[in-house]
Amino acid sequence: MSSTATPSVKAIFESMEYGPAPESAELAQAWLMRHERSFGHFVGGRFVDPVDGERFATTHPGDGAELAQVAQGGAADVDAAVRAAQEALPAWQALTPFARSRHLYALARHVQKHARLLAVLEALDNGKTLRETRDIDIPLVARHFYHHAGWAQLRDSEFAGYEPVGVCGQIIPWNFPLLMLAWKVAPALAAGNTVVLKPAEFTPLTALAFAEMAAEAGLPEGVLNVVTGDGRTGAALVAHEGLAKVAFTGSTEVGRIIRQATAGRGLKLSLELGGKSPFIVFDDADLDSAVEGVVDAIWFNQGEVCCAGSRLLVQESVAAAVEEKLRARMETLREGPSLDKAMDIGAIIAPVQLDKITRLVEQCKAEGGRCYQPSWAQSVTRDGGLYFPPTLFSEVAPSSAAAQEEIFGPVIVSMTFRTPAEAVELANNTRYGLAASVWTENVNLALDVAPKLEAGVVWVNCTNVFDAASGFGGYRESGYGREGGREGMYEYLKPSWEARLEPYREAPSGVPDGAALGAGAPVGEEAIDRTAKLYIGGKQARPDGAYSYPVLGADGVHLGEAPLGNRKDVRNAVEAARKGTAWTKATAHNRAQVLYYLAENLDARAGEFGARLRAMTGARKADAEREVAASVQRLFTYAAHADKYDGAVHATPLRNVTLAMPEPWGVMAVVCPDEAPLLAFVSLVAPALAMGNRVVSVPSPRWPLAATDLYQVLDTSDLPAGALNIVTGDRDELAAVLAKHADVAAMWYVGSAEGSTAVERESADNLKATWVNFGDRRDWFDPEQGEGREYLRRATHVKNIWVPYGE
Ligand code: ADP
Repeated sequence: MSSTATPSVKAIFESMEYGPAPESAELAQAWLMRHERSFGHFVGGRFVDPVDGERFATTHPGDGAELAQVAQGGAADVDAAVRAAQEALPAWQALTPFARSRHLYALARHVQKHARLLAVLEALDNGKTLRETRDIDIPLVARHFYHHAGWAQLRDSEFAGYEPVGVCGQIIPWNFPLLMLAWKVAPALAAGNTVVLKPAEFTPLTALAFAEMAAEAGLPEGVLNVVTGDGRTGAALVAHEGLAKVAFTGSTEVGRIIRQATAGRGLKLSLELGGKSPFIVFDDADLDSAVEGVVDAIWFNQGEVCCAGSRLLVQESVAAAVEEKLRARMETLREGPSLDKAMDIGAIIAPVQLDKITRLVEQCKAEGGRCYQPSWAQSVTRDGGLYFPPTLFSEVAPSSAAAQEEIFGPVIVSMTFRTPAEAVELANNTRYGLAASVWTENVNLALDVAPKLEAGVVWVNCTNVFDAASGFGGYRESGYGREGGREGMYEYLKPSWEARLEPYREAPSGVPDGAALGAGAPVGEEAIDRTAKLYIGGKQARPDGAYSYPVLGADGVHLGEAPLGNRKDVRNAVEAARKGTAWTKATAHNRAQVLYYLAENLDARAGEFGARLRAMTGARKADAEREVAASVQRLFTYAAHADKYDGAVHATPLRNVTLAMPEPWGVMAVVCPDEAPLLAFVSLVAPALAMGNRVVSVPSPRWPLAATDLYQVLDTSDLPAGALNIVTGDRDELAAVLAKHADVAAMWYVGSAEGSTAVERESADNLKATWVNFGDRRDWFDPEQGEGREYLRRATHVKNIWVPYGE
């Protein structure tokens, strides 16, 4: 839409056309020239040449012009950066929270001071419009550092019992280059960590400019290091042994690779991946506002937004009206040079992305989708730029590629629904779960629908609003972990007790020797009746394979038989848990009552359980009694927490409430260690249940009878069917099946280092959130290690619901 000839005033009045309103590129060009358009990595507080000297061009997508040459980081460059971060760590951590806070504050000030340079540089390197970099990206970057200057100051009081993780490797994409840097760097530094950041290959410039500003602002050398390069550099960073944490934003595909590459290394990992977010318009919505919302949802940043509202779901009765309004609005959008301040849509990042968008659009047409583009679409002056017009598809099947695949471009597909239930079903019909937008004037409907949407962020009557005080992050294949707010800070901290744990001296056992699947003789009906059973869907169940294994006491005495559960049993248990939604729907008060009741019933049988523990583990009477008493207490703790571990209303600077609600994962797997077979089981299962999860548990393989003895206690405690399922058998064999299972949303594993590695690796495909012990032993009797808020935090993830108010 750019026009080069300057029209006369009369012509402007007649046509009401906009003239060009270009921002000067001078500041950015001067900065580039000062660096002779060539950059090394930023390591240890200064620019350094890449070890092997390889460089590549970064260009302006609006016209293809080269902006600068940047370094392609290799393993040696990454190593130098990680070393610099390691060396900087002790002094950075030795600073007072106040001193670190001052540094973050200074970073915010410097971003503001250099806002114009950064906004122009970002628009040039990315191709997005200056209107957005100037009004959205850069102000949010400053806001992020201000907000986290506060967390730095308050870290020790607000996160008592937690400590920084160490050196963080952070990898970010090209769609919001500096904003993604801020989302990663600010909380990492606020928590007391040091950083090696790898920006995306298409957009490295603002990260380099920021690193330089950080040095100018007095940030100590090595606290923030930037290594540029492509995916190979990212892979080298992820592979580095010196990291304690990896934070990644990018494609789901690379997220999976990173999960595999980090499995078993004791790292913290947060992944913010793709999306295909629904934008739901109910018939009572303010349709004009909703249409403006669509513009922000899908044409903001050329639709290159992981949380873009790319699936428009409209209630049937207003579908025609919405489409008509939308088409009219599309006519008035303006697409063209990033530095023209009157543009709504800029250029696509790179030819490869433009090709991908074009291919998916052609595929959608071939699948029968009706394609609409504004009348000016073909007349955009391209000037060698990578432009794609705003595009609306209707008559799209929910299962089509257009409705399922993340296009990452200015393309929205529209579908209709009749009832709110149908809207929720359509909205959740995706493997992703990053964000959702809901439009209705009915607050009851909005707040009924929002919790049902499987997405980390829900915007009511607004869309694509972000703030440092609010968490952002996904469900399912959109990844895990949150960025922003209190919930985001935890991604860069770890409980101090975890750091103090020692590895098991004796390797955790599987089932006893000779009991491996198939090795033991099948037991007849009669024998099975004397064998403990599995507990699935509120009933005792025989194992699918009809095998059992002997449970031996401390002195080798044969105490009984436990079923050798297999993958079929696990699948049945997961299915029962999936159906057991009554527990998740129960009120927190009800869940508390059931847990109290469970505790009382266990207490009533304390003698019996104590005797069982003594027989199995050979514990002294007093110790066995102590374990039962501690288990009763632990149940009380989580019954108490059930209605107290609640959310927050985040103080985001808009006229709205941002409700941060901890939600249960849904189906959780919990795999228990050998020691303290009753207390460890209760310690792991109770917090998951208290938060409303349905649990599939694997008790201690060596001493499973404490858990199987619980069936009668469970039966008399009003726990609904499917809330807690118990599968006995080989720990690591069952854990592998659970880790691979797509319907298990989160998994805890306490066992060997190898088993921990396997769980992390096997979860890569379905991207479930995992919490494993890496072969370290916890003291279940110690309330600091055996219970507490970390368990509750790990049993939930936070959904942020933005609800604006005012007329
Ligand atoms: P997108 O297509 O959105 O850019 P990618 O996941 O390809 O998503 O890229 C996001 C970031 O991940 C970029 O900085 C990229 O260089 C980096 N990256 C790509 N491949 C890998 C990899 N195998 N390991 C680590 N980082 C990678």
